[in-house]
Amino acid sequence: YAPLSELDPEVANIIDKETWRQYSGLELIASENLTSRAVMEANGSILTNKYSEGLPSARYYGGNEFIDELEVLCRKRALEAFHLDPAKWGVNVQPYSGSTANFAALTALLQPQDRLMGLGLPDGGHLTHGYYTAKKKITASSIYFQSFPYSLDPSTQLIDYGALAKQAKVFKPRLVICGASAYPRDWDYAALRKVCDEHGAFLMADIAHTSGLVAAQELDNPFEYCDVVTTTTHKTLRGPRAGLVFFRKDSAQASDLEKRVNEAVFPACQGGPHNNTIAGIATALYQACQPSWKTYAKQVIANARALADALTSHGYKLQTDGTDNHLILWDLRPLKLTGSKVEKICDLMHITINKNAVSGDANAQAPGGIRLGTSALTSRDMLEADMKVVADFLHRSVQLSLELQQEAGSKLLKDFERVAAKSDKVLALRREVRDWAR
Ligand code: PLP
Repeated sequence: YAPLSELDPEVANIIDKETWRQYSGLELIASENLTSRAVMEANGSILTNKYSEGLPSARYYGGNEFIDELEVLCRKRALEAFHLDPAKWGVNVQPYSGSTANFAALTALLQPQDRLMGLGLPDGGHLTHGYYTAKKKITASSIYFQSFPYSLDPSTQLIDYGALAKQAKVFKPRLVICGASAYPRDWDYAALRKVCDEHGAFLMADIAHTSGLVAAQELDNPFEYCDVVTTTTHKTLRGPRAGLVFFRKDSAQASDLEKRVNEAVFPACQGGPHNNTIAGIATALYQACQPSWKTYAKQVIANARALADALTSHGYKLQTDGTDNHLILWDLRPLKLTGSKVEKICDLMHITINKNAVSGDANAQAPGGIRLGTSALTSRDMLEADMKVVADFLHRSVQLSLELQQEAGSKLLKDFERVAAKSDKVLALRREVRDWAR
């Protein structure tokens, strides 16, 4: 067959445009990263053709000798990357994504309608940690299980471990999930283990956001305390889009976690593994096992701190006043600006960010902040000095948003967008951002 550009120029053209967008703008979405060429090669390989339901040496299809070799290698690298003893820990590398990895973990650990506690979504938790609203059970984790959210202490914006322990006494969870999508500080795993032990509960960490930093031992180690650890592979870990489920072989809560997790992934939740993705994960894990990985992870954190410091020196308010990891939550409420407007103006500037709830937000539909992350810019070799320039662009974008909001004479996003689309100042700043970012 002809190459993509000849066979299907329409799709090739869209890929070209997206490549240009990713590398000529400023990518600050905390859940994204830029994978290496080697990871993309593995991910785009011929391995996509193969069916291999089951596990290495126990497949439901023939022709899997090389796929078995790949999956065994990927599992070995996953344990190595996270410094785990294969006698004590195992891993399933087949989940298609972080959400499926989490649902498989819940399926392995719980019976239908068992009780779980996770950090509430408005406080930075993830949908798959039991999210529901007053009107509706939203995700499978609240539809098939009974969930109760724990929250942040409003005065410090840190996890309120004391309140969590009291709530657990009443709710008696079978599982406590830690980990978040928008929490800029590290976790007290020992405190959570204590709560779980009081109730005979499992402790699961979802380190989707921070796994690259955990592998580099730049953050505290959840494996010391948890029964199960899940992660995505595409955020700080810099791999293709997928998930992993690590399970403790010697958990005090259950002796058969290996069997339970493997059967939960397939056949309970998934069909055939995506072998091209597993190859991409294996290559990403190879990268995470190299000495240079520590340098990368340290720089991601140094860049996040530099960005946080520069924003603070401009007088802005950040949740918890800073960060320990790759992400920053910027509280825009003192400026009387919504996250949606700042996301919009940044899009126009070719700075990619996302609106995000901040602790105490009254209206989840109009989040009062934005979330920033430094993984992707660090993958482009940017350093602390670059973060000062990025902070300056963000500062000028926010100041311009305030001007445009006033000019629009309304709080509505559509009026803001109308005025922004016609603004020469937007165009001028966008040109500056582009010239610098390239
Ligand atoms: N867990 C956490 C903490 C996340 O932040 C995310 C995604 O952002 C997920 C799970 C889900 O990952 P995926 O989008 O791959 O399903």
